[in-house]
Amino acid sequence: MNKATRNMAANKNIALVAHDNCKPDLLNWVKQNKEKLQRHFLYATGTTGHLLSNETGLAVKSLISGPMGGDQQLGALISEGKIDVMLFFWDPLNAVPHDPDVKALLRIASVWNIPVATNRATADFLFHSELIDQVLAIDVPDYEAYLSRRI
Ligand code: PGA
Repeated sequence: MNKATRNMAANKNIALVAHDNCKPDLLNWVKQNKEKLQRHFLYATGTTGHLLSNETGLAVKSLISGPMGGDQQLGALISEGKIDVMLFFWDPLNAVPHDPDVKALLRIASVWNIPVATNRATADFLFHSELIDQVLAIDVPDYEAYLSRRI
């Protein structure tokens, strides 16, 4: 696949998602990192977003709840280049009804080369990186070249 470049601004668009059993973990992490997160634009799936904004006072744009279509809304935003970083604390120990959506969201995040943290340790590594507050050029698929491929 040919590559193009997309510039991420210093103030990132950050998606926050947690499955029910992982919501306390994400909430604690967000509380601990509230000051850092305030510099960025926050998006979340419905239940996660309402929980985080109610409990922390942070401004969060809440989409539809994940199992009701929110994961797919996030995936669409990622493919439009509107999400720069995702924290997705998915539950590795319990099945969820929308497993295909979970897989699709993780897949599309890889396609568009955005950093994804699936647990607190990775989120800590991400947010201790100087890149989180810098303008950053990332490789993305060259969509024009993709469209004009030989078929
Ligand atoms: P929720 O969705 O924030 O609405 O609970 C999370 C998910 O994608 O499962």
